[in-house]
Amino acid sequence: MATKSPESTKGFCFAATVFCALCDGVAKKLITRRTEFQRALLAWYRVHARQLPWREAPSLYKTVVSEFMLQQTQVKTVLPFLARWLAELPDFATLAAASEARVLKLWEGLGYYSRARNLHRLAQQVAAWPELRRTPAAWRELPGVGPYTSAAITSISFGAPAACVDGNVVRILARLTADATEFRDSASASKNFAPLAEALLPVDTPGDHNQAMMELGATVCFRHNPLCLTCPVRPFCAAANRGEPEAFPRLAPKQMERRAVARVWCQKNGALLLHRSAAGARRLANIHELPTPEQAGLDPAKVSRGELLAKKRRGITRFQITESIYATPEPRGKLPAELVWVRLSDLETLTLSGPHRRWVAEIAAKPAVSPTS
Ligand code: SF4
Repeated sequence: MATKSPESTKGFCFAATVFCALCDGVAKKLITRRTEFQRALLAWYRVHARQLPWREAPSLYKTVVSEFMLQQTQVKTVLPFLARWLAELPDFATLAAASEARVLKLWEGLGYYSRARNLHRLAQQVAAWPELRRTPAAWRELPGVGPYTSAAITSISFGAPAACVDGNVVRILARLTADATEFRDSASASKNFAPLAEALLPVDTPGDHNQAMMELGATVCFRHNPLCLTCPVRPFCAAANRGEPEAFPRLAPKQMERRAVARVWCQKNGALLLHRSAAGARRLANIHELPTPEQAGLDPAKVSRGELLAKKRRGITRFQITESIYATPEPRGKLPAELVWVRLSDLETLTLSGPHRRWVAEIAAKPAVSPTS
């Protein structure tokens, strides 16, 4: 187990060696009691699992779509999107045949649009398979499917013996073992706990076990104030026994990078100037946002002297971005192809990034925001 303990010198750390030996011992003890652990967890899950659309009348397609939507998004946010999606795109074949514009429109508001594009391409590949593939390795070859998603899909749909290790599972395993290793990020923590997660997986019900672990993390073993008194695996939990569950896992604080971006609000005759990212763009391909001064061919210094209509903050991966939106006169000359005038009344027909749709609605509702040239 790697550590970034401050006492580390030349790759050797006495404290880390002690911690690892201790948590290894706890992990081994837990593994020897795994049947008891599995039973306690599963019995709890069978009674307390939330009724969710992908659990009622489950199907491979529902599992795949919900797993994609749940990456970086909470269950309660996903529910209305999933209902709308399933009503319009009920299976792999319909999704495979849908246009990318329609797929992105249905995804609008969930963010991280690469997930929608990957899901679309995945459906096209799955729909073309002569027969269904059932192994995690086969699913990992599909767009947007990593170790966690492949384990979730194949264990739930086909009973494949693959353990899911996400943030919830890391938190539970770190607490069960009181593992004091300091991880630089969640990916290295997941890698560290994967062997233990595999060792605890029952061969007969891997899908239910994986879902039970995730459910426990989502509804009982909270990051703060975990409900240890009612937790079904409390007798196996070293951190709870020590009375310090919140001390685990130990993850290095995320380094956020701050960025400032100016945006142009340019309105004429009831239409708004928007920027549509190119189809091949790495981020936000075919998605509209308010343009930056550079995209609109305007001088950033001049734009920033205009009326500030709104200042908004949002986090994207490791970036904390502040976006300042300025009222700006119409750019002169021929507009680049990526700039489009869109009537405010037609905005619903386009795909805008979720935050920009909210900001546009907010600014458009203000009186008199269109400057004159
Ligand atoms: S006993 Fe507490 S810390 Fe341990 S797994 Fe359960 S909720 Fe989490």
